[in-house]
Amino acid sequence: MKDIRDVIIIGSGPAGLTAAIYTARANMSPLVIEGEPSSTSDQPGGQLMLTTDVENFPGFPDGIMGPELMSNFRAQASRFGAEFVTAKVTDVDFSERPFTINVGDTSYQAKTAIISTGAQSLMLGLPNEERLIGHGLSTCATCDGFFFRDQEIAVVGGGDSAVEEATFLTRFASKVYLVHRRDELRASKIMCERALENPKIEILWNSQVVEIQGDEKLSGVVLQDTVTEDTRVLDIDGLFIAIGHRPNTDLFKGHLRLKDNGYLETQPNTSYTEVPGVFACGDVQDDYYRQAITAAGSGCMAAIDAERWLEDQNS
Ligand code: NAP
Repeated sequence: MKDIRDVIIIGSGPAGLTAAIYTARANMSPLVIEGEPSSTSDQPGGQLMLTTDVENFPGFPDGIMGPELMSNFRAQASRFGAEFVTAKVTDVDFSERPFTINVGDTSYQAKTAIISTGAQSLMLGLPNEERLIGHGLSTCATCDGFFFRDQEIAVVGGGDSAVEEATFLTRFASKVYLVHRRDELRASKIMCERALENPKIEILWNSQVVEIQGDEKLSGVVLQDTVTEDTRVLDIDGLFIAIGHRPNTDLFKGHLRLKDNGYLETQPNTSYTEVPGVFACGDVQDDYYRQAITAAGSGCMAAIDAERWLEDQNS
């Protein structure tokens, strides 16, 4: 008979690995299907693998590199017996218990599943972009704004995220260019007013970043006017891309309820999805906080929810 696990965790960012630590310590022998190293959206360790210094994760007063932090999470989960499969889940069946989770031709079965497949920041798709992440290019103002004290930077986007980040970044930067491809912002009126009144923010209307410059570190961008198609170089020390996020939920369409914006729906203040025994945590269900520490916290919630749910089934 096939081995039926107490829990399978899909995804290995801060949420999934925290769930692994907690479920391992609760004797649930978790199997973590951690993703594929070659992929930018599903790589083991999640989004922190694409960052350099992490200075806001509590417990590291001198900061820590993102990949090292995730390697520590993984080692801690392994220490308590979590097992890992380095591959991408290709299909799930949550319609009956035990649940089935397929990785290609290999099928795994589990009494509970914890989903922590994360989200990805939308990117411009330009050469240099991936290489310069953490070297002047960022997708998180809360995380990286501090590194740009008294420097000139730009934010790309015209929605609430971009306008909010541009305003936040004026606490550090000497000048913030907001680069938007149209002549009207998408962001809410009050946010726009705040940005327009801020003397440190200059909005570059009808502008698109068409090239990112820099060898070791980002040094500037080439902007193209979307009306005249004229180009010019903007020398800056930092570039924040704030054009939206995409949760990694393709796998769960038709299996679990998604919110209108594509994120997994969980019951308020819990990690419960609408399928009993299936839990979700981290950025795949969080469209608001999107921080490593909040993801880790929700991974802990999912582990406790799964453990208690399983206990109730067995009693
Ligand atoms: P969004 O509303 O989808 O806005 C994305 C922005 O990026 C748009 O201005 C879009 O331009 C631009 N964009 C998209 N692709 C681009 C590309 N390839 N090149 C250049 N520009 C590009 O995303 P968001 O700002 O992340 O917000 C997501 C949701 O969260 C929204 O519902 C928002 O209201 C909400 N949110 C709320 C708050 C708050 O209330 N405090 C803060 C952040 C986010 P176009 O305008 O031309 O399409």
